Amino acid sequence: MKDLHHLLGMTMLELTALAESLGQPGYRGRQIADWIYKRNVSSIQEMANLPAAFRERLESSARLYRSRVAGSSKSADGTTKLLLELEDGQRIEAVLLPYEDRVSVCVSSQVGCAAACAFCATGMGGFCRNLKSGEILDEVLTLQREIPRRISHVVFMGMGEPLLNYDSVMAAVKILNGEMGIAMRHITISTVGITPGIERLAKEHLQLTLAVSLHAPSDSLRRELIPLARRYPLDKLISACRDYANTTGRRVTFEYILIQGVNDSPSHAAELALLLRGVLAAVNLIPYNAVPGLDFKRSSDAAVRKFRRVLEERGITVSQRAERGRSVSAACGQLRRRAAE
Ligand code: SAH
Repeated sequence: MKDLHHLLGMTMLELTALAESLGQPGYRGRQIADWIYKRNVSSIQEMANLPAAFRERLESSARLYRSRVAGSSKSADGTTKLLLELEDGQRIEAVLLPYEDRVSVCVSSQVGCAAACAFCATGMGGFCRNLKSGEILDEVLTLQREIPRRISHVVFMGMGEPLLNYDSVMAAVKILNGEMGIAMRHITISTVGITPGIERLAKEHLQLTLAVSLHAPSDSLRRELIPLARRYPLDKLISACRDYANTTGRRVTFEYILIQGVNDSPSHAAELALLLRGVLAAVNLIPYNAVPGLDFKRSSDAAVRKFRRVLEERGITVSQRAERGRSVSAACGQLRRRAAE
């Protein structure tokens, strides 16, 4: 069997070239892109303004792959988490987060994850494979069907490490921005701190938002929480973040999960402030979501307030993640694990 083109994942330019190679005028490419990325169809047959004969021709040389919704859960605040089954039977999670002023989605970039963070549910299952750009876009398009408002924000904070699947993630980002019209500033790549990936991203000169999962102010503690951090020491990581901010003019977000008795003391906060001195940064404090089978607990509200105050007294911009979707097991990897059990 000859290789079929995967339409989902192709840019308008690539679709134009494909249409032309099949003897059609170039504008068919734009029409196909609109059907896929704007009208969110699941099949070539639905592309009503293409001549029937061309649809047949397209069917024989290309396919429009879409995932299957294998499970979903919705909480009262509208947060909806989908379990999506891919063509090879692998399952990933994607989450819809509607707010008053925006509709955000949280997508996975890999099946499983190699980082093996001590506190994370996805890490427990190990790494399976990278997602293709079309599979990432499918997550967004499938979530879009859950809500009449348009998705305005995309965060790569689902399963996997986006900077270890760089090419597919960037191909998806370009289509999210171009063909789907989502502002670059509204796309966030969250990384465990892959320094070379951050350096490469800075060279793209995009207005993307970079978020770095710091979770500890020292190498020793960070390595306990994030085994992969052994390869990326803090001095080089922070310096890559400083360069990213300087090159792009964009403030870098540092994510910090507060775990009781592990990384949440006022002295950790003071050390963190020192580490980020001179970096155009914001710290995003995240309440830890307990993972069944792991001993970590979230910090008390009082500890969070104190941690925040120490940072702010030292001039650091702090935000706190509004907690959403706890009832839908919205923490990284939890729905997939539950379904697997
Ligand atoms: N690999 C990327 C993105 C995936 S996770 C990264 O590490 O940034 C997105 C964020 O959720 C990361 O900051 C991650 O550390 C955090 N996270 C993972 N498990 C969590 C949990 N149980 N509770 C709260 N945050 C968690």
